[in-house]
Amino acid sequence: MNDLSSIKLLLKHLQRVPYLASRDLYRVADYFLNMSQEQSELFCQTILTTKENIKPCEVCFAWKEKLDPCIFCQSPSRDSKIICVVETWQELLAIEKTSGYKGVYHVLKGVICPLDGIGPEDLTVEQLVVRANDAKEIILATNQTPEGEATAAYIAKKLSDSSVKITCLARGVPIGSSLDTMDRLTVFKALSERRLF
Ligand SMILES: [Zn+2]
Repeated sequence: MNDLSSIKLLLKHLQRVPYLASRDLYRVADYFLNMSQEQSELFCQTILTTKENIKPCEVCFAWKEKLDPCIFCQSPSRDSKIICVVETWQELLAIEKTSGYKGVYHVLKGVICPLDGIGPEDLTVEQLVVRANDAKEIILATNQTPEGEATAAYIAKKLSDSSVKITCLARGVPIGSSLDTMDRLTVFKALSERRLF
């Protein structure tokens, strides 16, 4: 690879993309290299245009079209007093797929992870605490991983002085699993049989 320094640079950038398994990096690089000039320009332009047009909602932090209202926060058919707290947009989508949830969301944008230097201030916890003042229920739907559980415990402590009801997903969600890898029925059951935190 010594004389392929340009490919090395591409691999280095691909490596930074989470969820791209390292054994597939060469395949991905090969795919990009085989693209026509037109295809690669379109690909790059699409990323830039999407980044320009899609922004997080200022209330729930779910992605939304910059100029459009948030489809969750501003939907009249949703109960804005019930807030489901998820780690990322993928978990929000997993819950949406069940079609059984009619509250709104709060995307934390990650979990507290001291090893990676991620503290509560890097997440949207403070904004959630403010929202909780007007809510009647906060559902803590962080993943059942050590970081997800620790983040839920942190939030519950932060909200302990408020009168809001705090619930979490039903037991039965496999330990260590993330909502977006579970089937629809499991997510639906976990949500509909939620319990007090
Ligand atoms: Zn929103």
